[in-house]
Amino acid sequence: MNESMNDIHELHWIMDMLQTIEVGLVVLDREYRIKVWNGFMENHSGITASKARDQSIFETFPDIPEHWLRRKVESVLLLNTRTFTTWEQRPYLFRFRNNRPVTGTEPYMYQNITFSPLSSATGAIEHVCLLIYDVTDTASSRLKLERANAQLEQLSQTDRLTGLLNRGTWESLLANEFERFRRYHGDCCVIMFDIDHFKHVNDTYGHQPGDEVLRVVSALLQDNLRQTDIAGRYGGEEFGVVLPETDQNGALIFAERVRKAVESTTVDTSEGPITVTISLGIAELNEKIADYLTWLSQADKALYESKEGGRNRVTIWQEKTA
Ligand code: GH3
Ligand code: MG
Ligand code: MG
Repeated sequence: MNESMNDIHELHWIMDMLQTIEVGLVVLDREYRIKVWNGFMENHSGITASKARDQSIFETFPDIPEHWLRRKVESVLLLNTRTFTTWEQRPYLFRFRNNRPVTGTEPYMYQNITFSPLSSATGAIEHVCLLIYDVTDTASSRLKLERANAQLEQLSQTDRLTGLLNRGTWESLLANEFERFRRYHGDCCVIMFDIDHFKHVNDTYGHQPGDEVLRVVSALLQDNLRQTDIAGRYGGEEFGVVLPETDQNGALIFAERVRKAVESTTVDTSEGPITVTISLGIAELNEKIADYLTWLSQADKALYESKEGGRNRVTIWQEKTA
């Protein structure tokens, strides 16, 4: 066998390998006409090489992002450098169905793509080569992880110590109630309360028994809630409750019930029995309140008035208290 026969054999093998590799291989000329279209591309697009050849890529695939592809190809040709794009930047260039059984949750094949300039025998850069990698498995497990993390975030909407909603979650639900009121009106109240002289409890008994008191107060609050009430731990020893479909008279009854429950409960701790009281403020929602923060600050001002007035009491916010 002579040299040129060897060359022809080698060329044949190379063509054979390129035809069968599990990577998409596409060559485009400067007019975006398809010059090479390997087996991977045939299998996933359903378009044979003989059909694709010399056709415009944009006419063959009308939903290809033309502007984006032109920008990539122009810069590769101009700068004579390779460039790489990932599925995170753009999930896919060619919209191929994902037909893998394992990763069946993703409807389309995710693709990483390499763009390389191809020089001709004269050294001119007249073509660009696209290598299309199927990265559906990687993308799919990453997306699964992201979805799982989102679920975990859902679960961490509660405060660890008390099991009540944490501040962020509670505040966003408060904002929701405010928006709902804007559309549908009806009655709605918010209550803020704070444990009286809690610093003294910590100073006298320690932080651990203090935590125990916080847990018990939270449990007493929860015992008195209705299904639709929204209770959260707003700060260290501050709590907030949204009472939908409740006017200020109803809120006052609720607040008094919680106040008395706390007052009459003794918390047995390792450092001895502890009794605390709470001060509460109520604000009823009305049309004059511009945003939920204003509503909240009215409850807070009423709470402050309860503190000023001697603690262990409930105050309803009124215009004059402002
Ligand atoms: P007031 O009647 O005016 O509310 O007096 P106070 O001492 O309760 O007032 P203040 O809000 O200044 O003090 C709150 C204290 O609550 C301060 C802090 O040591 C304590 N605290 C805040 N978060 C926690 C917690 O998670 N655990 C415990 N044990 N104590 C906390
Ligand atoms: Mg306090
Ligand atoms: Mg406080």
